[in-house]
Amino acid sequence: MKEKLDYRGNRVKKICRAVSLAVFGMILLNGCGVDGSKVSSSERTEKQPGSTEYSTEVFAMDTYMTLTAYGKRAKEAVEAAAKEIDRIEQLVSAQINTSEISQINQQGKSMVSDDTMYLMKRSMELYQSTSQAFDITIYPVMQEWGFPTGDYHVPEESKLDELLKFVDSSYITADEKSNTVTVQKPGVKLDLGGIAKGYTSARIMEIFKDYGIQSGVVNLGGNVQVLGNKTSGEPWKVGIENPEEKGSYMGVLHVSDKAVITSGGYERYFEEAGKEYHHIIDPATGYPASSGLLSATIISDDGTLADGLSTSLFVMGKEKAIAYWKENKENFDFILETEDGEILVSDGIADNFHSDFKLNVVEG
Ligand code: AMP
Ligand code: MG
Repeated sequence: MKEKLDYRGNRVKKICRAVSLAVFGMILLNGCGVDGSKVSSSERTEKQPGSTEYSTEVFAMDTYMTLTAYGKRAKEAVEAAAKEIDRIEQLVSAQINTSEISQINQQGKSMVSDDTMYLMKRSMELYQSTSQAFDITIYPVMQEWGFPTGDYHVPEESKLDELLKFVDSSYITADEKSNTVTVQKPGVKLDLGGIAKGYTSARIMEIFKDYGIQSGVVNLGGNVQVLGNKTSGEPWKVGIENPEEKGSYMGVLHVSDKAVITSGGYERYFEEAGKEYHHIIDPATGYPASSGLLSATIISDDGTLADGLSTSLFVMGKEKAIAYWKENKENFDFILETEDGEILVSDGIADNFHSDFKLNVVEG
């Protein structure tokens, strides 16, 4: 055991050096701030003529976000993206009383926007395809644990059993003709926290393109999506955080036009009586998923899918995650780290993931 710790300690140091050379690292910024507030903005002219960088930081969806675009209309594009984040949050946040999701949670029914309808459809597809690992009706259980409010406690098992009767996405009806979402059982409540940020980064890529931007990157609290390449023409470099040591990386991924989205218990958790309880719940038990994974990273063209699947594969654990990928590998790649320190990488991105750790490449 001791030998293993030493071994990993040495490796962590190496990784830190490698990443300090990376032009762009996926920096996870967690913590509290003022809702919707703009933290800072900056503008500078790149060496290439006509290429301006504009960057802004905002606090929204309970996390710090960084938006960066390069091009003549970079400032307009980033400002439009910041507005889009606010717009989506107002529609889908379960913590905002007037949101469409809150209306459904309070009244069992609501007319919804195209955005919410799209997210409902994608979430329901994921519920089916992941054999219920992804389930947006998890909200009553999230509330019982205190995750939405920060008023954490470990629930009684009997209370969880009672609440699990409301956790079942087959109670949701999403009718596109009448733009209405209905839950068929009183007490069923929705939480799009596992998918909304991925949808938001995907929407921002569309907005960037509308402003003629060919190069950009957003980091929504660790959910990264990149547009095109860096202005130098090289791919973006995204550092994948080492769950075992905050601020260090398990490797650097080289990507263009991709979402890179990680779920891990280390991202949000509380401690009670010396035990850690994290925010990704196994809908089968009502308890934090303990599938043997420390983190699941999904790499995909589709930000919404990447977000939904990062949560899902974390719940599934290594074996089921690999089986799921084999069935759906045209849509995404993965990087998984297990509690035993094994790092598994799917073969579609293995050549683009640079790490000092030993990697086990999973062939399709
Ligand atoms: P992520 O960071 O994308 O993995 O999302 C975690 C968030 O998704 C949690 O904070 C909850 O809001 C929600 N969530 C937790 N467990 C699940 C689950 N099994 N299926 C869908 N959403 C979940
Ligand atoms: Mg997710």
